[in-house]
Amino acid sequence: MYDNPSLYYAYKNFDRVIPIIIYKDRANGIECDDRQEMGVFRKNFMTESILDLEFQLVKEGIDLIILNDDIHLEDNIREICQTHHIHHTITSYPRGFIACELLGMISQFTSVYTCEDDSLLQIEDLPFPVHQLPDTFTNFRKKVEKSMILRELIPKPLFSPYTNQHGFGIKLDPVNIDRPNMASFLLPGGEIQGLKQLNYYIWESESIVTYKKTRNSFFGSDFSSKFSPFLAVGNLSANKVHAAIKEFEEMVTKNNSTYWLIFELLWREFFFLVSEKYRHRIFLKGGILDKDVSYQNDMTLLKKWRTATTDDDLVNANMKELITTGYMSNRGRQIVASYLIHDLNIDWRYGASFFEKHLIDYDVTQNWCNWMYIAGVGNDSRPKGFDIDFQKQRYDPASTYSTQWKNVNIKSII
Ligand code: FAD
Repeated sequence: MYDNPSLYYAYKNFDRVIPIIIYKDRANGIECDDRQEMGVFRKNFMTESILDLEFQLVKEGIDLIILNDDIHLEDNIREICQTHHIHHTITSYPRGFIACELLGMISQFTSVYTCEDDSLLQIEDLPFPVHQLPDTFTNFRKKVEKSMILRELIPKPLFSPYTNQHGFGIKLDPVNIDRPNMASFLLPGGEIQGLKQLNYYIWESESIVTYKKTRNSFFGSDFSSKFSPFLAVGNLSANKVHAAIKEFEEMVTKNNSTYWLIFELLWREFFFLVSEKYRHRIFLKGGILDKDVSYQNDMTLLKKWRTATTDDDLVNANMKELITTGYMSNRGRQIVASYLIHDLNIDWRYGASFFEKHLIDYDVTQNWCNWMYIAGVGNDSRPKGFDIDFQKQRYDPASTYSTQWKNVNIKSII
């Protein structure tokens, strides 16, 4: 509802608006994984987010149409377009190549306008054309930090009512599933919750003030912002997060940690643009570098990694957290990814695909670009092999994290 350009401009420019959300509940997967079932936590987070939107729209007298992209999507769109004489479609910006099939289909029926709403920086405001995006994050950051142009925050739209008289669409129900209480992410999806978390992390707990020191931890809920799931499904905009940090810096304090949260948001921007520049190459084994890499791909070892039964307790603990909650810390992601690629010698894309299935903050560009990076086929050609023992000594010296996840049973979930 807030800072949502497509919703805002639709209501500003047209008298009659039909809000439609297209819901996807299968992850893509690769090769032998085919089109895998989405993990239960990821699916639930998305469902909760859509229900929250539906709830907020109903309060404004508006029915939201929910379509599943697997269930007669084309027929449904055709029927809605016939019944309602739709002239224009305004949609959230789909990441370049990713949703072009869907947009191509919709554009058979109406003209389509897209609004960029998931990124902080607009492509036309960058100090370079996308095809000249620097290939290292540092060079990118230095260039954009010099002259960062951000769009104004967009208010809640002035709504006009819509009744779904034809009964188009599907009904969604969230499932209640327990998460172990030591999990670092226990929040439901939805804009209301996303705004609460923004307020909590920045203003209430002021955890932002120590972010740089705590961000590599595994423990508790406050070591990092936990904004990523809300950003990934559109409950929060990066612009809104950025504005809140700036306001906090002005009103309360500005330090290395407040800067570092913006620095991390710039990684997110960087990877969006990498995928814009390289498109489908982010999914290739040799990555955007087109590197000649090969892996042993022992499927028994891959299964152990996926089922959190490897020889390494820290890897297993992190994988258990992912499977039983849909979230894993950034440090954990780096460790398990490095272990899969560099210790087990398995194609990084199996790991990316498994994350795609489970992560509640799954974002196609963030996930695949981070995996490429660790595999050494992305924006840094040096393979990011971690010394796992060193990681343990540094981040879990008393094995507290590994021990607390040791007896957690994942059988009922996978
Ligand atoms: P914080 O530390 O509080 O960071 C604040 C915000 O900065 C995050 O919400 C995120 O938007 C951004 N950010 C932080 N680190 C990164 C990073 N390395 N790359 C890009 N943006 C970052 N993030 C996703 O949002 N979706 C994914 O699918 C995803 N897959 C990943 C896969 C691997 C192998 C790795 C190593 C990282 C991945 N990340 C992904 C990035 C990062 O791990 C998460 O964004 C972060 O852990 C989310 O928790 P947080 O919001 O508390 O992060």
